[in-house]
Amino acid sequence: MSIDYDLIFNSALKDLRQEGRYRIFNNITRKKGEFPKAVYNNQYGIKSDVTIWCSNDYLGMGQNPLVVDAFVNAVNLVGAGAGGTRNISGTSNYHVELENELAKFHNKDGALIFTSGYIANECALSTLAKFLPNCIIFSDENNHASMIEGIRKGNSDKFIWKHNDVDHLEYLLKNSNKDHPKIVAFESVYSMDGDFAPIKKIIEVSKKYNALTYLDEVHGVGLYGKNGGGLSEQLGLTSEIDIIEGTLAKGFGLMGGYITAKYNIIDVIRSFAPGFIFTTSLPPSLAAAAVASIRYVKNNYSLREALYERAEKLKKLMLAKNLPIIKNNSHIVPLLVKDPVRCKEISDILLNEYSIYVQPINYPTVPRGLERLRFTPTPLHDDSKLEFLVNALDKIWRELKLSRAA
Ligand SMILES: *Cc1c(COP(=O)(O)O)cnc(C)c1O
Repeated sequence: MSIDYDLIFNSALKDLRQEGRYRIFNNITRKKGEFPKAVYNNQYGIKSDVTIWCSNDYLGMGQNPLVVDAFVNAVNLVGAGAGGTRNISGTSNYHVELENELAKFHNKDGALIFTSGYIANECALSTLAKFLPNCIIFSDENNHASMIEGIRKGNSDKFIWKHNDVDHLEYLLKNSNKDHPKIVAFESVYSMDGDFAPIKKIIEVSKKYNALTYLDEVHGVGLYGKNGGGLSEQLGLTSEIDIIEGTLAKGFGLMGGYITAKYNIIDVIRSFAPGFIFTTSLPPSLAAAAVASIRYVKNNYSLREALYERAEKLKKLMLAKNLPIIKNNSHIVPLLVKDPVRCKEISDILLNEYSIYVQPINYPTVPRGLERLRFTPTPLHDDSKLEFLVNALDKIWRELKLSRAA
């Protein structure tokens, strides 16, 4: 019997299309110094100016002149690539300096950089789960795919606790073998709803049952805390968390991920994690730019104040029009549509008629029935951009007869 590979691939793609969640990558080319403006290249090759409303470059650091200069200067000094894995000729002054900067940033003994935040989570969690005999992992049900993959790969026992439900976490901890090592894994700022974890309470129950805490601060670093060390810093809890994981790709506007922890934990992951060991290290120029970005963000609290002010203002304008946003205390503004086809349709109208770019967010990034547009205002989105966006949404909501907030 012959296998019809084409049929298998094509029918899977057809299903996605029918569900309205086939992903189309919009070609959006940013222009240095003009963020959040960018050039949209549509499918016919026609270019037009658009405003980006869904970037994770929350502070516009990807275009900060000091960061760009640090990148370019390092390229001019050492060339484009790292030339090897960390162990075999791929460690430079730039990598060492970045890890020192990150350790200092979170007030930990050490730091380890990875090619992305995704890989950092996957590697760190799978390695710890395998390394600790009889390890049990407790994972918040809304944890990011990278943590879920790491936990799955670690192949240890695991329990999923109801999102942000500390009583449920405690119930699960209490009913586990008290002699087995445990890791409680969660996020500080959940990026799709923009809600915060009850970090203090999670730490308290974790300590009570002698579990290590693993905190993903990907949507917190650069954005919360006096120095930008994340929500854990803002709450004065940095030293209580065993492992803090972060990214260089969001608040810092670049690429790459990291963990910070006590030195022996860093040393174990450095020594045993295949996804750290067997891959080429980040380009030195990227590490140089990351150091510049971290230092800038750390020393400019006004960036964070401007971010909060912009997010508050946008939420207020949307609420004034009864647009159904998910309320939260973060910089993320999710607007519920609750239908994948409608969600894509609104995104297309915004792009083609209003030059506003916001990507539809569908399953599996969010549960079915909770499809949404996720707006991320930055300090560079001025009042006129906010008002233009909200007026466009109001008009679309009226024309398509979409449901408003109660
Ligand atoms: C984006 C994201 C990551 C992955 O970070 P990258 O550096 O983009 O790979 C990890 N955790 C969470 C919660 C994220 O949103």
